[in-house]
Amino acid sequence: MTEPSLDWRSPLPLGFRWPKGVRAAACFTFDVDAESPVLFEHPEAADWLDVMSHQAYGPRTGVPRILRILERRNLRATFFVPGYTAERWPAVIRAIRDAGHEIGHHGYLHEGARTATDEATEEARLLRGLDALDRVAGVRPVGYRAPMWELSYRLPALLARHGFLYDSGLMDADHPYRLATGPEPGAASIVELPAHWSLDDWEPYNYLPGITGSGVIASPTDVLARWSLELDALVAEGGLFVLTNHPFVSGRASRAVALEALIERAQATDGLWIATAAEIAAHVATLHLDPVVHVPPPLQGAG
Ligand SMILES: [Zn+2]
Repeated sequence: MTEPSLDWRSPLPLGFRWPKGVRAAACFTFDVDAESPVLFEHPEAADWLDVMSHQAYGPRTGVPRILRILERRNLRATFFVPGYTAERWPAVIRAIRDAGHEIGHHGYLHEGARTATDEATEEARLLRGLDALDRVAGVRPVGYRAPMWELSYRLPALLARHGFLYDSGLMDADHPYRLATGPEPGAASIVELPAHWSLDDWEPYNYLPGITGSGVIASPTDVLARWSLELDALVAEGGLFVLTNHPFVSGRASRAVALEALIERAQATDGLWIATAAEIAAHVATLHLDPVVHVPPPLQGAG
């Protein structure tokens, strides 16, 4: 692998620029997981009403509240929807679509890539998710977010082959970049919109006994402060702020208040472009960026 030379004096990657008048970008994203991640990891939980009700809070209560916030703030967001969620909560997904928000792909049953041992399994999951979003909402997403942000080295090529414009979830940059689908020269590429666990609401807030979380639930005041620090710092660096929230998590009342305060802060920031992930990816696709090639590190001789 040829490593490009390092220009460490500029925070912006070589060739990267935002649209005229823009100094940084922000994208508010919502992963409408509902029951799917719990059912994938713990199928027995389908029989546990308490757990299913905890997850149903998302489509039943969280999504409507978030849609009201986004309407109040005149903001279009990106909702990544597992196919299973679309089939189980079709009216909710259509309401998201009808409110003008972007709908992206988020697996079928929120399958982590580490559970797929071959490309055929990954492709079947991708196609099943596409089929569900099409049947339920007539949507053909251009964006993909891997469940649990688990991405295999082979998935970018599958995404390119099936017409996706971007992925959002790798964690090696503050700016979007062109993601090569393989190491060979001239390989196809898609756009990557990097994200990070620190801008995800699952870790600070989520607790389901025996399923996820430590039981230590953060205050929305603290979470808002943390996210505001990262927003301001990424704006100063000319980067991309991708916030990942889950309606069953951040749709809860005081957390939603904190989210709206963060949106207000972003909207009051000079030169910050707040857009859907697809809009940001479409801009990046117009830039002439050298593709970033990811290859597994060699283990031979290591350790
Ligand atoms: Zn998810």
